[in-house]
Amino acid sequence: MTKNAATQATDDGVAASPTTQAKEIVAGAPDLPATQEDTSSQDLYNTRVVLTTYPSQFGIEPIPLIWGAQTPGERGPVVVSRQQGTLGKRNAIGAGGGSYCIYRALAVAIGALGPNHRPDFRLTEPTNIIGPFASWSDPEKIVSLDPWGHSVVENYSNYLEDGIDLRPTTAITKAHMKLAEIDDAIRSGILKCDGDIVTAGGELKVVKVASEPVWHLPGVAKRFGIEESTLRRALFEDTGGMYPELITRPDLKVFLPPIGGLTVYIFGDPAAIPDPTKRLTLRVHDECNGSDVFGSDICTCKPYLIYSIEECAREAQNGGVGVVVYFRKEGRALGEVTKYLVYNARKRQEGGDTAANYFKRTESVAGVKDVRFQALMPDILHWLGISRIDRLISMSNMKYQAIVDSGIEIVERVSIPEERMPADSKVEIEAKIADGYFTTGEALAGEALGDVKGRNWDEIAH
Ligand SMILES: [Zn+2]
Repeated sequence: MTKNAATQATDDGVAASPTTQAKEIVAGAPDLPATQEDTSSQDLYNTRVVLTTYPSQFGIEPIPLIWGAQTPGERGPVVVSRQQGTLGKRNAIGAGGGSYCIYRALAVAIGALGPNHRPDFRLTEPTNIIGPFASWSDPEKIVSLDPWGHSVVENYSNYLEDGIDLRPTTAITKAHMKLAEIDDAIRSGILKCDGDIVTAGGELKVVKVASEPVWHLPGVAKRFGIEESTLRRALFEDTGGMYPELITRPDLKVFLPPIGGLTVYIFGDPAAIPDPTKRLTLRVHDECNGSDVFGSDICTCKPYLIYSIEECAREAQNGGVGVVVYFRKEGRALGEVTKYLVYNARKRQEGGDTAANYFKRTESVAGVKDVRFQALMPDILHWLGISRIDRLISMSNMKYQAIVDSGIEIVERVSIPEERMPADSKVEIEAKIADGYFTTGEALAGEALGDVKGRNWDEIAH
């Protein structure tokens, strides 16, 4: 890159303040020997590297974005692309696609995807209409997703026609589900085929919504009672300094974080969700790949998920509607590697794997016992237009509190039936109940909690 050496800072024509002085806003790579890769990198992008931007910089004119405005037109589109013609108009920090932005980068790097590729959105529009609801134009009810993220093409076609690179962050589709456990439930008479919600072939008909995170930083900070500047600094530091604009662009208030999103499964008519005359059964489920997909029996995740699907289908069959929200927050959002380290520490600790020590091992490995931060979770419920949940299929006190604190009424809390709990998951469940989780039974304490033990790895029977 020697022939494309560091360039001068662009003169933004504004009187330099201490913070805008001597800024190198457009910089080349360090002075490295030219290599084959350098040449191809120049061919690929054909522009100098823009390390970061500043509010008063020449050419920086963000498209106005007013979070919580009454209409999508007044609110403005979320613009996060750095493509040619869009970079100066960005009004959001980060990258689209959640964690998948990295795979897209790899595809560009190897030449499988052009850096300026634009999607063809024809025929991609939602299969079902959801909203708009009053919560969509309340800047504090929804702070972690874009309420207009599914209607980008519909509402912002003028920007697309002007060459601005916009991407939907939410998509709505329909599907049929076929699960072995649901087949079993039909065979044993727990669930009936009605030909509509559950087809004669035992398939469940669903409407599905996938959504990627879009954070309004002032709203997220307020939700947790912290300063926006503290949130920005922590996000900058703990992403390895990946997003300098968190620091240099305080005027940009929206951040698309590189994390997993969520999926909503709706059983019955989505129009019944905001209808106060219709009953709603709901589960909020946080990802547990080991149990949900592979059937690991150390926790109750999959049995809970299956139970909630059955209950949602039944509610829809009775004229109401069922909703399962699935969040990509593996291992209490600490990740699967941390989770397995904790499993090992639990099984090997003195006295064995007991309910009394359940949370201690997570804390000793991760420093905290849970980073799912349910305070942001109700956003999707408000996006769906929910104001009352008749049956919440969850024992989690954190989920319950977050939903109630956000202004949604919960009529009944439903815990997993005893007979559906795998034997080895008793450690988890009893520990959670002792910690404040909902139960219709008794919370154990003291010695009794220490008596709830998980099996050793080599034991076959519990
Ligand atoms: Zn689990």
